[in-house]
Amino acid sequence: MSDAIGSDGEFDVTRVREDFPLLARQVHGKSLVYFDSANTSQKPRAVIDAVDRYYRHFNANVSRAVHTLGEESTAAYEGARDKLAKFINASSRDEIVLTSGTTQATNLVAYSYALPRLKAGDEILVTTMEHHANIVPWQLVCERAGAKLKVAPITERGELIVEKFIEALTPSVKLAAVTHVSNVLGTINPVAELARATRKRGIPLLVDGSQAMPHLPVDVKALGCDFYALTGHKLFGPTGTGALWARKEWLRDMPPFLGGGEMIRTVSFDGTTFAEPPHRFEAGTPNIAGFVGLSAALDYIDALGHARFGAYEASLLEHLTEALRAVPGLRIFGEAAHKVPVVSFLVDGAHAHDLATLLDHEGIAVRSGHHCAHPLMQFFGVPATLRASLAFYNTHEEIDRFVAALVKVRRLLA
Ligand code: PLP
Repeated sequence: MSDAIGSDGEFDVTRVREDFPLLARQVHGKSLVYFDSANTSQKPRAVIDAVDRYYRHFNANVSRAVHTLGEESTAAYEGARDKLAKFINASSRDEIVLTSGTTQATNLVAYSYALPRLKAGDEILVTTMEHHANIVPWQLVCERAGAKLKVAPITERGELIVEKFIEALTPSVKLAAVTHVSNVLGTINPVAELARATRKRGIPLLVDGSQAMPHLPVDVKALGCDFYALTGHKLFGPTGTGALWARKEWLRDMPPFLGGGEMIRTVSFDGTTFAEPPHRFEAGTPNIAGFVGLSAALDYIDALGHARFGAYEASLLEHLTEALRAVPGLRIFGEAAHKVPVVSFLVDGAHAHDLATLLDHEGIAVRSGHHCAHPLMQFFGVPATLRASLAFYNTHEEIDRFVAALVKVRRLLA
């Protein structure tokens, strides 16, 4: 990459923006303000070029061919596993199962870890602020086993009530599943503290890292959880990429989830023996180009440095929150003490979808809707919110343009 770091080592957002070609786009004749990164992030040129180079120079299937292209493509795909392992400080590359995203990662744990162990009367603990991807897989396996979902509550400010979570860790709970960062509220959950409580009770903890990875340095050893699910497309990488990190002792005992090529040792009509983890869980041809791109994304983030862009993101969050608070009749959902730059809100008398549509005509992309978090919407008693979700490539000027446009389009609806 990039000379996105100035010669003085400071974070230089102007240079960073030059790395993201799409940010130069016009929408409805206005320069784009992209405030929908929690939905999917934009991709730096390094990622786009890596995918392009893969298809132009070494496109071949992985782990099958001995020819040069096959070896190069396998090395690049397996290289993504190495990079991810290092990126999240896993003990070994064998703890990284490459998946299509968080959804596949949580489903893998639901069907391969939880279902074989669950009995009638058992419980799985989640929280009120989970994305559907961290609710529905557990409901499906609970239904099959006669087990139940249990929900740890949050406060009106959008913070998990840690004592209630710990109280809920009764012997009937066989797994706890918590988001690291809420996709709606921006809340950062105290995962290390939760993991200490679950470990003490011998309950495995799955963490949904989808929204944490783009903002926070993640160290699975320091967090102390058992499973960590992540998705590549929110992490400046291609869609259809992601991973499950799991402690080796869990992966070793998990049966295959999907059957097919690549995940076997031997196959006969009398029976099949399976590859060791992680390949046991990677049936079929993977998204090779996607993982080549994800590798480039990890290099890009490493070069930028979490410490540098973390401070910049904190300044964006502060500015955005203050500017929105100044808008009369605007209610913010999620005022946790520890947050990433994601702000959900509603404006009196204006429907979220109408505002989002009018903002689009101003060149501003925000998401409106339930954000795949129906139970959280029910908790706040609203059908939908608007959500502005920022990344390190956004600017303070964009926040001012967004808030001015919001005030303007709201008048049109009055
Ligand atoms: N979990 C959270 C908190 C999310 O925000 C998302 C995506 O919005 C997901 C899970 C699902 O990720 P994916 O669709 O990439 O599998």
